[in-house]
Amino acid sequence: MVVPDPPVLVSLKRITPSIYEASLACLAKAVWVAVGDARVLPQNPAAILGITFHAVVAAAHKGKLSVAGANDRSAARALFDRTAQELHLRAHRLVRSKFPSADRLPFYNRHRERAAITATPIAASRSPLASSAADVTRLGRAPVKTEARLSSKDGYLVGRADHIDARSSIVVDYKTGNAAGGNACAVSNSEARQLRLYAYLAAENGTDIRTGAVVRSGGQRCEIGISPAEAEAEADSAKKQLGRLNAAVAEGASFQDLASPSPKNCSFCPCLPFCGRFWAEATPEWTAGCGLHVEGSVAEVESGRTYGIPLTTLLLSTRSGTAGARCVSIEQIPTEWLDMDCSGPPHVGDTVRVVHGRQLGTDTGVAVIRVDKALTSVWRLRQSSAEAPRAVAPRDA
Ligand code: SF4
Repeated sequence: MVVPDPPVLVSLKRITPSIYEASLACLAKAVWVAVGDARVLPQNPAAILGITFHAVVAAAHKGKLSVAGANDRSAARALFDRTAQELHLRAHRLVRSKFPSADRLPFYNRHRERAAITATPIAASRSPLASSAADVTRLGRAPVKTEARLSSKDGYLVGRADHIDARSSIVVDYKTGNAAGGNACAVSNSEARQLRLYAYLAAENGTDIRTGAVVRSGGQRCEIGISPAEAEAEADSAKKQLGRLNAAVAEGASFQDLASPSPKNCSFCPCLPFCGRFWAEATPEWTAGCGLHVEGSVAEVESGRTYGIPLTTLLLSTRSGTAGARCVSIEQIPTEWLDMDCSGPPHVGDTVRVVHGRQLGTDTGVAVIRVDKALTSVWRLRQSSAEAPRAVAPRDA
């Protein structure tokens, strides 16, 4: 696959909690979140299942999940299966090549069961009173909102909170990934920022929020108090980040100008394949913080078959990245992975980038790297202007 071009900066009309969070680490990453064409990169399989989890829980909150009781998980499982299949059909070809059906995505059954366990009691407890006319009259608005798009009065901040309950003044965010810092029973700093922004958006739309809750797919629930002043301060900070991004656009900055590479910032960043600043600045010391990624010139290509599956091993003369060795052997890459965009597999002399490899060891000075089925992708740089920017239309947040 050929390395995609980084997006060209465009002025943003509004900022979302996701763009804001990315911008605090790296403005270039924020640009990608705002206007990047996500179709050109393979999705992380965990993200596909995370979206699926959210869809099932949202359906439960909206009263669209019909259950016979709090232990009847069949409807949640069926919706999970349907949603995952739809997302899988739309996933990047590399993802579909690695996992030919949705139920073969890593930890599928665990995510499915967690979604069912979380959503079914919500669906069962959703009484008709949840949106009763009395509540609407008393509160002056719908008492609950699930994944409703909310905008600040000035239009600069928008977002979709997973669930807002005006009756208890609470905003709930569901999380399927690992908790930051490994503590599933605490709200992380980034989660708190997100909750405060949702509280602000709710207030701007007439709902007073005093509590932010994170509910993890593993069942843990943690809460923080949110004062109106805290919510407003976070919103001010987000709008300032929007101003910073737009000032950079006005000054003619490029994606690379805004990149802030570091092991922490670049960890699991989707921009790794095309972020020139990362490849210019990454060192072997970054491996522990952001994984194994290598750019090198192809010195040898070896083809073979194992159990009838065509495999390719690439010997690279290392140019940059986090692998310390001067020479790396990327072992037994399924050949199909190398030509997902029909641009042809790498040849001797090509420059390739391998992201998210797994180092097995070093053999006579050559680092031996295996691919990770879920995460590894192999990219070939164009011979010239490998990172020429490409205009993209801004996505409407
Ligand atoms: S790879 Fe690192 S420097 Fe590049 S956009 Fe991502 S976070 Fe920023």
